Amino acid sequence: MPENLQFVLGYKCVCCGKEFAPEPFRYRCECGNNLDVVYHYDRLKKVWSKDLLKANPEPSIWRYGPLLPLKRTPLTSGLHVGGTPLLKVPRGSSDEEQQLYLKDDTRNPSGSLKDRATAVGVQHAMELQKKTLIAASTGNAAASLAALAAYYGLRAVILAPATAPAAKLTQILQYGATLIPVGGTYDEAFDLSMQVAEQFGWYSRSTGINPMLSEGKKTVALEIAEQLNWQMPDWVFIPTGDGCIAGGVYKGFYDLQQLGWIETIPGLIAVQAENSAAIVKALESGADLAPVDAHTVADSICVDFPRDGLKALNAVKSSGGFGITVTDDEILKGQKDLATRTGIFAEPAAASAYAGYQKAVHENLVTGMQSAVLLITGSGLKDIESAKRKIMIPSPVEPVFPAVREFLRQADLC
Ligand SMILES: *Cc1c(COP(=O)(O)O)cnc(C)c1O
Ligand SMILES: [Zn+2]
Repeated sequence: MPENLQFVLGYKCVCCGKEFAPEPFRYRCECGNNLDVVYHYDRLKKVWSKDLLKANPEPSIWRYGPLLPLKRTPLTSGLHVGGTPLLKVPRGSSDEEQQLYLKDDTRNPSGSLKDRATAVGVQHAMELQKKTLIAASTGNAAASLAALAAYYGLRAVILAPATAPAAKLTQILQYGATLIPVGGTYDEAFDLSMQVAEQFGWYSRSTGINPMLSEGKKTVALEIAEQLNWQMPDWVFIPTGDGCIAGGVYKGFYDLQQLGWIETIPGLIAVQAENSAAIVKALESGADLAPVDAHTVADSICVDFPRDGLKALNAVKSSGGFGITVTDDEILKGQKDLATRTGIFAEPAAASAYAGYQKAVHENLVTGMQSAVLLITGSGLKDIESAKRKIMIPSPVEPVFPAVREFLRQADLC
């Protein structure tokens, strides 16, 4: 459906409420805070319906074109971002967890949910005739930008902490992007990316300053709603770093509620690592967001100061959800448990959703009888060093049958 911009009313500041016209594009409000995209829901309702959506064969996020703030929706799936499976977890031995679903976003082209944001950002950059895009990233946003830039023949410049997992840095270089490893934190890389983008007029795909990115991330909520046939789950567990996913998920459900396609918005649960929990702290204390000194094995949610913190706080509060923290050990145990139980190998940040779910059930914040969707945001293959901490690769056996039989005997398999 071309000319989608007719459905965009404009932008609205999440802090001071100031409104802006759809064009010219601006990253942030005059007050420095982030913007939300506001749609013309009545106009949309007249031309778009659940039935029209159902009849649309497009499998990627582009099936939701009318709810994206782009002039034109691509006519082909491209690298095929989104359209990921929503899997029901096989029932455990107890009666618990009868309605547990995993949204498997490890299956995106670069292996993480970030592809949803990048896809919309890249399309938007092309509409603005930008040829070079820059991002600061803990790793996945960069790998994602590098992949999509490769597909569309654009230049990608990446600022990432030099300590990012090797697989992610390798991905970035394999896709042919320019990688500037920063000998500092993600937060320092972020500030640099702002300076560079402004200096050279490049398009910024850094999280928390570009409203296109939450709009891209919201497609995961649109998919969940459609896959559950518009019957909302009780809870959605969201691994949270900057808060862009949490804000985006809320926005997706909010848009659907405004269209009258769903009645209620599920309770959104922001899961953070114990030592990277600025958002959960603000939720619990009721005070303003304050930076923390973040360190966690879950590199993708290792953030001192959440750049989309206000959107995330609003998402959790308005949806009737809550915040929860998990330790690194709980994350790594959850990662192993999830993989063993379901066949999905998640990176530590993604496994935090599962660890957070287990903890919430354990603490009776959520009952096993309630339905929950866990966002599995990134693939375990992106960081095997962390995953190796909870397993042991056995030493080799002699290539003869008795040695194998002895091995199996010791494993209690014969
Ligand atoms: C980026 C990321 C997150 C956190 O998303 P935010 O928008 O920063 O809160 C969670 N999991 C994975 C795998 C990520 O790459
Ligand atoms: Zn403002």
